[in-house]
Amino acid sequence: MLDIKKIIVADHAGFCFGVKRAVDISLNYKKEDNGAVYTLGPLIHNDDVVNFLKAQGISQISIDDLDKLGEKDAVVIRSHGVTPETIRRIEKTGAQVVDATCPYVASIQLKVKKYHAKGYQIIIVGDKDHPEVIGINGWCGNSAIVTRDGSDLGTLPQKVCIVAQTTERLSNFEKVVEAASRSGAEVLTFNTICSATKERQGSADEVSKKVDLMIVIGGKNSSNSKKLYDICRTNCNNTIFIENAGELPDWVINSKGIETVGVTAGASTPNWVIQEVLARLEKGLETEQKELISAIAVDGKD
Ligand code: SF4
Repeated sequence: MLDIKKIIVADHAGFCFGVKRAVDISLNYKKEDNGAVYTLGPLIHNDDVVNFLKAQGISQISIDDLDKLGEKDAVVIRSHGVTPETIRRIEKTGAQVVDATCPYVASIQLKVKKYHAKGYQIIIVGDKDHPEVIGINGWCGNSAIVTRDGSDLGTLPQKVCIVAQTTERLSNFEKVVEAASRSGAEVLTFNTICSATKERQGSADEVSKKVDLMIVIGGKNSSNSKKLYDICRTNCNNTIFIENAGELPDWVINSKGIETVGVTAGASTPNWVIQEVLARLEKGLETEQKELISAIAVDGKD
């Protein structure tokens, strides 16, 4: 008899609103359009989803290959958003722009544009190399100061407007606001951190404290999934990071010492990948408990 008695799926796990929306927009557009549909870079950091989209006829194009586009083609802007300059470059080719920028990110872009025009120095709290930050910076003519914690702000002009990358830590945002306020500048702040990240991290933290084994499902390049892994590992030494059900080690299913298993997934992990992992784990559950797993699996997503 195997030992797994309970599987707990984090309340907030898997696709966030913006990522799900971007995938839906791409698939719906492809259904209606005869031309080639591309995403500008991988739509999300998950190979299973990228391969699935490819099978539906939606492949990737890089910024350097835009001149290969034709008038019948379409380019999907992913949830991270892009600079207005990138949009203009696509439009110049004659291809359609399908904008799947997450509305939360689009709202930051508009704020940055508005307050830059009003003479504010824009400060973005985030990672200067992250596509979302590069895109936001484009909306103020690439003039923003990008900082992680405010330690490198230097001398500030009279008016500054602070926004955050949607996945930034609140503590970093607060540090930057504090540093800018000390400079004596007029400081306008917009806490633009998205609750999806906080909710996923909070649920992962909660579940990983209660289990013998924690499974984090996410793409190898997904920074938000890696962050979930770090959080879970702090609470549960027995935490593993897998991309899909195929990577679930046999020792988990056949283990004799694991009674409670927790499952969470990054914002770029689709529901079907989570379900496949749960289906494999189900083999470790006693027969009468199999219903429990499906009930949790459905309720556990947002
Ligand atoms: S994490 Fe938030 S801001 Fe980013 S794509 Fe998802 S819903 Fe949008």
